[in-house]
Amino acid sequence: MRRAVQLIRRVAFSSGHRYWRSDLTAEENRAVFGRWASPYNHGHNYVLWVGTTGYVEEDSGMVVNIKIIDDLLQERIVSHLDQRSLNDEVEPFSRVSPSLENLLFFIRQQIGSLPEQVQLSWLKLEETPLLHAEWSATQSTMIQLTRIYEFAASHRLHSFALSDAENVQIFGKCNNPQGHGHNYILEVTVGGEPDPETGMLVALDDLDRVVHAEVVDRYDHKNLNEDVPEFEKVNPTSENVALEIFRRLNTALPAKLERIRLHETARNVFEVCA
Ligand SMILES: [Zn+2]
Ligand SMILES: [Zn+2]
Repeated sequence: MRRAVQLIRRVAFSSGHRYWRSDLTAEENRAVFGRWASPYNHGHNYVLWVGTTGYVEEDSGMVVNIKIIDDLLQERIVSHLDQRSLNDEVEPFSRVSPSLENLLFFIRQQIGSLPEQVQLSWLKLEETPLLHAEWSATQSTMIQLTRIYEFAASHRLHSFALSDAENVQIFGKCNNPQGHGHNYILEVTVGGEPDPETGMLVALDDLDRVVHAEVVDRYDHKNLNEDVPEFEKVNPTSENVALEIFRRLNTALPAKLERIRLHETARNVFEVCA
């Protein structure tokens, strides 16, 4: 069986933008864009990851010559966006909100056709290290937005269903009665179609408010076993913490929760999907 290979290329560009429509009053702009509304530009160092998928050519041993992909991305993406003001210098952003989501759709369109041996399969656009959007060919009208949060908490892995000796045997050092702690990193991914007016899938303020109320403020600088009611009788393994976070966010978020990823350490990541 022939297996396809995905080639992922990284490109970077810096652009300015603002959330402000000249056909609206200051008050109306604030009503639409909230605390992001400003008549002045700010900017980002965007990082774009481009996935192209195809079969390895026998002669070259490559899916596609990376130089071709890179030249194409420089010409169709970077030369149009780098060191530009999106609102003033890049169509359609005089009319369309220059949100991360809309910029990703623009890039999707702008890439256009690729060499025939490969297909555009995946795009990820990072606006800051804590916010990125993804597009995938399998769900081409949808977009996923991921926001990253942190909390520090301690826990002791201990199951009430097991004897003390069994707990020590299974959990080892992690059963230490005094516990130990982690700087947890939480990725929250929501999916859907952006709001036509703001260009955003979800108002980030609303997302942040809910995630802080349901997770970060609840767990940050806490002992999960002692301070948090849901882990009074439940072993606070990162699997159980991830499931609890998913349950809490799934009912409270103002957008469709697609996935959470909980990084316990740089080597352990726990994922729960819708
Ligand atoms: Zn911005
Ligand atoms: Zn631990």
